[in-house]
Order: sequence, then structure tokens, then C-alpha cells
Amino acid sequence: MSQRENISSEEVQKFNDLAKEWWNPHGSFAPLHKLNPLRFEYIRANSNLEGKTAIDVGCGGGILTESLASVASNVHGIDMAEKGLAVANIHKNDSELTNIVYSQSTVEDYALTNNENFDVLTCMEMLEHVPSPEETIQACSDIVVKGGDLFFATINRNIKSYVMAIVGAEYILNLLPKGTHEFDCFIKPSELEKWSRSAGLELIELIGVIYNPITTVFSLSDDVDVNYMMHFKKINDDR
Ligand code: SAH
Repeated sequence: MSQRENISSEEVQKFNDLAKEWWNPHGSFAPLHKLNPLRFEYIRANSNLEGKTAIDVGCGGGILTESLASVASNVHGIDMAEKGLAVANIHKNDSELTNIVYSQSTVEDYALTNNENFDVLTCMEMLEHVPSPEETIQACSDIVVKGGDLFFATINRNIKSYVMAIVGAEYILNLLPKGTHEFDCFIKPSELEKWSRSAGLELIELIGVIYNPITTVFSLSDDVDVNYMMHFKKINDDR
């Protein structure tokens, strides 16, 4: 597969169809709105964002991108869903944020012209929507400076994650639209770590994210069976 083909057009279409929902805190992306403060605080506490350049890969409507821009000096958001990007641009302008640039690109294409440009990279809830997450991770590594921080978030692949993230979230609790996730595209932490290591990244921390359906609150946890985040640093071989 050439780098340019690492896109699932069905997956991108799903997000184009839902684009108008991005900033509705009670709509299809409600879980991301609830999760955002937790993940942003984690990123902020574990990287040196202030005054730095950051990139949000698979930025969607810009929920996390805007949080990053509240601390970083410049933030770039890239995504393939043009309707999501249009919504992200409108919201950015309404919020009078001047330090965000959005563009329609895969990270693989972006890496062809951007080498070691960013101090911090986030790629959250996106790897489970691409045909080859391994290629995505390599391109993410290519665009980060040596010693820079990368944060990935995705969903583990096991019986529990099937029951919780698909049956529970899509069919019982109606937290997400039906068909949001394909079980086969879920990623085990060991796979993500292996691909990242091959891409020159060193694992700093693996941490679970759990959802309590009673309190409707997300929190960090040792339990990585369903949602999890991984923090990596790009190895600096000049050290
Ligand atoms: N990271 C955001 C959005 C997650 S939704 C957040 O957590 O708030 C997943 C996003 O990935 C969608 O906006 C979708 O359009 C995008 N996406 C899917 N495949 C992609 C690809 N190959 N390249 C870039 N973006 C992609």
C-alpha cells in the first residue's frame, strides 16, 4: 500500500456526515466533550506545551486542538474530513483563536514536507479508523522533534472492549452513533508499543481511561482493557 492510500473513505465519510454535531456537548461527540478536560490535563502535565508548537492529527472539529492552543504557541490540526475541518475553522474564528491552522491532509502526506517540526503531537481516537495505524505512527514520529512528546489514545481489542465500547456505548447507552467503531480495528497496547518502538519512539507511560456510566465521568486508571492513552518520547540519538 502506498502512503497516500492509508485512508478508509467509509470511516472519513462517517465523520463528514456527523460534522455539524462536533460542538454540541450533548450530541454524537458528547463522550469526547466529557473526556477532553481529562486528556488535556494529562497531556499538559506530561509535556512542556507552553510556548511550543503542537500538532493534532485527526483533529475532527477541533475539541482537543483548541485546548492545546490555550497553552501552546502554535497548533496545527490535520484531518481528512473536510466538513469537520470547516466546522473547526468556524469555531476557531468564533473563539477568536489566532494560533491554530487547520489543513486537510493525512499525516503521511504531511510528513512528506514537514520533518521534525513539532514539539508535541496528539493523535487521539483516530488510529482505530485508519487501515494501517503502523504507517500513521511512523509519519507521526517523522514530524516530531527529537525528544518531543507524542500522545496516542485508542481502544484495546478484547471481549471486554467489544462489550463495553461497541455493545455498551453504541447499543445500550447510546453514547455513540451505531457503527462508530469496528472491532477488528481496535488496537492492543502491545501492538501500539511495537509499532512505536519501530518508529523510534520510547514508551513513557501506558494509562487506562475508564467511564462510569452512573456518574458519567471519565477518569484515569490502571485498567487499560478498553480505552487507553500512551505517552511516548521520540528517541534523541544525538544525546
Ligand atoms: N482526535 C479528535 C477526533 C477523533 S474522531 C478528538 O479526539 O476529539 C476521528 C477523526 O479522525 C475524524 O475526524 C476523522 O475524519 C479522522 N480521520 C480518520 N481517518 C483519517 C486519516 N486517514 N487521516 C486523517 N484523519 C482521519
